[in-house]
Amino acid sequence: MQDKPHLLIVDDEPDIGEFIRNIAVLAGFDAEFIDEASQFEACYHPDTRVVVLDLFMPERDGIELLRVMAELNAKTAIILISGYDKSVLNSARKLAKEQGLFVAGTLAKPFRYDEIELLLNNLALLPLENQSQTGQTRSGAISEQALKNALETDQLVVHFQPQVEFGNGKLAGVEALVRWQHPDHGLLMPGRFIPLAEQSGLIDRLTDVVIEKSLQQLGEWLQQGLRINVAINMPPVSLKNLHFPEYISERINACGLAAEQVTLEVTETTLMQELARSLDILTRIRMKGMSLSIDDFGTGYSSLVQLYRIPFTELKIDLSFVKHAVSDPEALAIVKMTTMLGHELGMSIVAEGVEDQSTWHLLKQLGCDIAQGYYIAKPMPGEKILAWAKTIHAHIS
Ligand code: C2E
Ligand code: CA
Ligand code: CA
Repeated sequence: MQDKPHLLIVDDEPDIGEFIRNIAVLAGFDAEFIDEASQFEACYHPDTRVVVLDLFMPERDGIELLRVMAELNAKTAIILISGYDKSVLNSARKLAKEQGLFVAGTLAKPFRYDEIELLLNNLALLPLENQSQTGQTRSGAISEQALKNALETDQLVVHFQPQVEFGNGKLAGVEALVRWQHPDHGLLMPGRFIPLAEQSGLIDRLTDVVIEKSLQQLGEWLQQGLRINVAINMPPVSLKNLHFPEYISERINACGLAAEQVTLEVTETTLMQELARSLDILTRIRMKGMSLSIDDFGTGYSSLVQLYRIPFTELKIDLSFVKHAVSDPEALAIVKMTTMLGHELGMSIVAEGVEDQSTWHLLKQLGCDIAQGYYIAKPMPGEKILAWAKTIHAHIS
């Protein structure tokens, strides 16, 4: 029995196929490359962990192979690549999702070594479904049991990233971002364990921990004379949980805080998945006085009407657009239009991923309201925020 997970690359360009195969081998995969889509059925097994798929191939396109996998009810993680424009990748991703497939990432050619490396390293850590049932995982991989243990022994910590008003440079709030202080592996970023938490159903408990630690921190800041807001990320499951609005509202009251100090962030993609049921829950969250933010805006497919129907108070422009606004006219156009649209609908605009001074100035000029990003500050432990806030003007100019 092969104990390394199987990864299959389908691309008509041998250079690219080999390039990816080498990275996959280093990431710990049993990697196989085929340059003809006609060989797909012969090489693909239902337990293939990852398929890296070029959308454009001469005799059979990638969309056809997606259909083959959908018919097999495949649980394979799929990485889509394309040499054409990004809109094709986005359409293909949407199509795959609608067929119940799991798209772990998209890559536009030419892509960088580190882009594919990061994706493959993360996927190598995901437990296979059949493995998580027996509790076995590859050595070094994060298992469901380890995450459960981390929750029970309080290994999760929350860091906070400042959000600053463009207008006056004041600290408006922070976003709560979870980390795992792992006894052997050090501080793990959420990308390493949130997908596992979501798959295994541990995300509910993880969210409770983040809420509890965030509210407690908010209370401590208040005692120190710092009144700011906290934004908490809502996972997809909480949009199905009809008790969620009451639950969080009760926790806020119990901590002696005001609902106005709490913003809940829902990604645009999550929203689209849970549209029917979420309207009820999101409306009740607003009625209880909390704010609602639509996160990663621009990466999903919400329509104007949907934005209008759901009472969002804030719109966060995805960092992929913010990061390139200075250099890429298309990204700039999206930032401009989104800012106008959000303002027209009465929302406050948060630019996420502000990494340098020129981006700060450009977005300020475009009328964005709040900035978040490495230029202002990286996420930090709660006890560092107060001292940071006192020297805020030294960080922004
Ligand atoms: P997100 O909600 O979009 O959070 C923003 C991410 O962008 C954070 O990554 C943050 O550190 C990073 N970031 C902030 N400023 C910059 C910048 O200027 N440049 C760049 N390149 N990145 C920047 P992080 O902390 O690794 O979190 C990744 C994702 O994990 C989050 O994306 C969110 O989707 C998820 N996540 C984090 N904490 C939680 C949580 O408590 N619950 C849930 N359900 N998801 C969480
Ligand atoms: Ca967020
Ligand atoms: Ca975001």
